[in-house]
Amino acid sequence: MTDETQDERKVALLGRQPPRHISAPRVYFAFESGRWAYDCARCGAHCCKGFDYSIRSQEELRVHLCRSPLIRLFLNPPARTPLPNLLTVRNFRPGCVMLTKDGRCGIELAAGYDSKPETCRLFPFNLLKCVGDHLVVAPHMTLCALQLSDTEVAASSHASLLADLEAQGVMLNVLDATCVEPDPARAIAVERAVLSLCRQFGEGGRYEDFVLAQISAAVNGQGHSEEGSGRAPLRTGAHLEEYCSQLRAVLGAWPAAAHDESPNVVRMMVAITPAVRAQFVFPKRQPPFGEAPWCPLSRVPYVLLALQKVVALLCEAGMAQPSYQTVMGVVEAYRSFLTLACRLDCSLTWAPTAKIPLLPMNGAGALADEVYFVAAKALLRTARARPLGQMLGEACRAADVGRLALLEDLSRVLTGRLVLRTGREQRSCLPRAPLRRWVMAKAPVDLLCALATRRRRTDHR
Ligand code: SF4
Repeated sequence: MTDETQDERKVALLGRQPPRHISAPRVYFAFESGRWAYDCARCGAHCCKGFDYSIRSQEELRVHLCRSPLIRLFLNPPARTPLPNLLTVRNFRPGCVMLTKDGRCGIELAAGYDSKPETCRLFPFNLLKCVGDHLVVAPHMTLCALQLSDTEVAASSHASLLADLEAQGVMLNVLDATCVEPDPARAIAVERAVLSLCRQFGEGGRYEDFVLAQISAAVNGQGHSEEGSGRAPLRTGAHLEEYCSQLRAVLGAWPAAAHDESPNVVRMMVAITPAVRAQFVFPKRQPPFGEAPWCPLSRVPYVLLALQKVVALLCEAGMAQPSYQTVMGVVEAYRSFLTLACRLDCSLTWAPTAKIPLLPMNGAGALADEVYFVAAKALLRTARARPLGQMLGEACRAADVGRLALLEDLSRVLTGRLVLRTGREQRSCLPRAPLRRWVMAKAPVDLLCALATRRRRTDHR
C-alpha cells in the first residue's frame, strides 16, 4: 500500500457530534503488532459475564432479536445510557444470554465476527483515546487474560485491527485525553520509538537497560532538557542507580537479582511497557507540578522502573508467573504511588498555593496519620532539603506492614500539591504562609495525630 493510499484511510468516530475522522497514520496502537493472544474458552469468557455491552444499529439489534426475541426486555434505552444513540444490553452473571455452553459467542457463531456488538468486537483492544489529532488504542487494563506470543497473532495485528476500525468506525464515545507533552504528535513519535525497541530489549537482560533507552528516546524526541525538574536529564546508569537508591528507601525492600532479572519479569515488563506508558503519557487529567506536568515524558520511564521493582517483589513474594493482568493490576492498585514515584530523586516542597490537609487520609488509621504528618512536616520549606525518596522512606520507617497501601494513600494527597524546592520560592512564600502551614510547622506529630483522630470522631457523629 502506498503512503498516499494509506493517508486516505480514515477511522470514523461516529459517537461524536459531528463525527470525527482520524487518518490511518494517526492511529497509534500502544502494543506490538501480533504479540498478544487470548483464548476465550480457556479463560472462561470472563468478559462475557456480567458486563453490559452496547448495540449501535438496528441491524445489530435485528441479529440479537433473531437469536433471542426476549432480549428486547433487557435493553436499556438510549436515555438510560451514557452514550447517545446506543442501546445497552444488560448482561448478568453467570453469563451473556448469547454465550454458548462451550464459552463461545452465539452471535459470532451464527452471523460471523463482524455481526458482534461493537463492545465485544473491539475487546480487548478497546481502550480508545483521542489525543490531539491522534487516536490511541490500548488493551483493556485488566479484564482479558492476554498472553505473550512468540508467533504472529492475527487478533492483535495492527493491520487487521485498523482494517476493522476503518470498516466499521467507532460508535462508542471516544474521550479526549490530555498529553504530558505540549505537542501530542511529538509524544506519539516518542511512543512509536519506544514501541520499536521492545523486541530488542525483551530478549533478556535487565529492565534498567530498557529504562535508559526510554529516557534517551524521550530526551532525543523532545530535544530539550528535562521539563520542570530544574536539573539535567538522568541519562546514565549512575543516575539510574541514584534513582534506585531513592526507590529502595521508599519501598523498604528490594528484589533479589533472581527475581529482578528473571526473564519472566523482564520479558513481560518490556512487552507491556507501551500500554502502561499510554496510561501515563495520555492521562485523563494531569496533576500539576508548577508550570510543568507532574510526570513529563522524560519522567515516565521512572514510573515504569518503579512498577518493575514492585512486580519483581511480588514475584519474590511467591507470584509464580507475572502476566499481563498481574502488571496492570499493580498499575491500578498503586497508580498514585507510581505517579509520585517519578519524582523521588527531586527535592520537593508544598506548592505555594497548596492547602495542606490537616485530616489527610480518612479511615486509613493512626499509622497512616503519623506517616502523613512526618512527611508533611518534612515538605515544609523551612525543613531540611532532601530528595523525596529519602524523605518518604524516613516517614514510612515504622510502616513495614501494608507499606504500599500507605504509600498509595499518601501519594493521593501529595501528588499535584508539590513543587521543586528553590530558595527563591522559600522567600516569596513564607510571609504569606496560611494558618495550616503554621500549625504544621509548630505542632508535634503526636498532637497532629490526636487532633486528626478527634476530628474524625466528631465528623463520624
Ligand atoms: S454478545 Fe457475544 S461476545 Fe458479546 S458478551 Fe455476549 S457472548 Fe460475549
